This record gives sequence, C-alpha cells and structure tokens, in this order.
Amino acid sequence: MSRFPVFDSHVDTLLRISGPPEFLSGSSTQLDEPRALKGGVEDLVLAVCAEAERDPTASWKKAFGIYEELIERSSLRLHLMAEGCQPLIELYPEGFPRDLRVACLTWNVPNSLAGGVHSDAGLTDEGRALVRRLRDSGVIIDVSHLCDRSRRDLLRMDVPLVATHCNCRRLRDVPRNLPDQDIREIASMDGVVGVTFVPRFLAENATSSHIVDHASHVADLVGVDHVGFGSDFDGMGNPPAGVVDCTSWPAIFEEMSQRGWSDGEITKASCSNWRRVFGLEET
Ligand SMILES: [Zn+2]
Repeated sequence: MSRFPVFDSHVDTLLRISGPPEFLSGSSTQLDEPRALKGGVEDLVLAVCAEAERDPTASWKKAFGIYEELIERSSLRLHLMAEGCQPLIELYPEGFPRDLRVACLTWNVPNSLAGGVHSDAGLTDEGRALVRRLRDSGVIIDVSHLCDRSRRDLLRMDVPLVATHCNCRRLRDVPRNLPDQDIREIASMDGVVGVTFVPRFLAENATSSHIVDHASHVADLVGVDHVGFGSDFDGMGNPPAGVVDCTSWPAIFEEMSQRGWSDGEITKASCSNWRRVFGLEET
C-alpha cells in the first residue's frame, strides 16, 4: 500500500468501459479498481466527456448510468465530473444530479456556452447563466479545456475556479496549459491545479520527472496548498515514460521525495488539497 493516499481529479475511464464489472474486477484500460487500490487511490473524479462523442446526450446517459451503479459497489470514493456541459442543459433544466461535483463548460471544441482550446470564443450569456446555476448547486467550476478568452471571461466572474487536469505554460507552451498569471488567480480563490500526465502537456519526450517539474512549478509560484494531480488515465494514449498505469503513483511520490518535497507537502498534493476544495473529510 502506498504511503500517500491519492485524490485523482481526472480520469476518463467511464467512457472506456461497458459496465461496472470491467472497473471493479480489472480491465485492459489504464485504471480499474484493483490497480487503483494498489496505487493508493482513495478518491477518484470520473469525467464524462460526452461532447467528444458522436451523440453527447446518449453518451452522458450511458456513462451516468454506469456511474450510479459504480458508486454503490466501489470501495473507492467516487465523484462525477461533466466535461462539456451541453448535455446538462438539455437533461437538467432545473437542478443537477446530486453526485455531480465538477464541471468544465467545454471539451476542446466550442459549444453554446464557451470556447474550448480549439477556438478563441468567449463565454456566452448562456454559459454565464449555467456557471451561476452550477455554482449555486455547489458544483465546482473547472477551466481545464477552455481557451484563453473564455477562461479570462470566467476569471472575471469572480466564481471560485479549479483546473482538474492542466499543466504550466511556462514549462510547456501549449494552449491546454495555464499561464502563470491564471495559476495565481486560481490560487487566490483557494483553487487547485491538478497536474496532468498527458505527455504532450508535459514536455517533448515526457517522463515522470516532468510531472514533478510541473508540480514543483505550481508550488514555487503559489505554494504547495494549490498543487494537485489529475492524471487523465484512460484519456491519453501512452503515459509518459516511467508511468505504466494507476499503480505508478508511489513512484511519482518517491521522486518528489528525492527532490526535496516533505511527506507533509506530498500528502497535500496527493490528496489533501483536493479534499479541501471538495469539502471532504480525510478518509
Ligand atoms: Zn479532459
């Protein structure tokens, strides 16, 4: 068992499995329950990225159905995230499922709410109205897939924000990563940046060391209280060198330790910071 419990703020596993058995007893994906437990995972945010699918509403319904079964049967603490909120508008005109804890208005492409990273659209009036509804329902607003313009518009709304799976543009200049100024603003609202393992957001020829580089940059910039991890297991092709799957968490923490992170600091980044934002007790 890992010395450090893990709160992983982003995985795409829900859209990769056909039903709970694949998750609960082992599968060919990068994450399932037996391996997650081995890696020390205690909290897991399962995203439904329905807007990447051909029929977003049907994809949402299917994934949400699997989630509802899993939450009954899994020994992990599960949380639900919407990535691309168009299906929410259609399906929940008056309130959201109780389990929905995080929402990013878009995936990479623009929708009627905001612009994803493949656009430079701003936040629309419909997007602003949905953000207020989500906030009032206790749903945490995530900026991970937004383009710069929409993210800046959101920052000006003065709503607490997080990034569940983003890295630092200072270290890797791609649109999915956050400029230092935006990391500062998220931290000033007590938010967390979940450093992600997606190789192209880490570096050329990415390795597990680059994960620690990005986490260290966030810590140096705004303090260790605002560092988290959102792996994006099952949402990427091959993980970076040195990471196999969700059993690899202890190796990452070992490298953090070797590079001067104290056990207390690693624990904040591995789980406690996200639990603070989610309003959860330590397990
Ligand atoms: Zn994503």
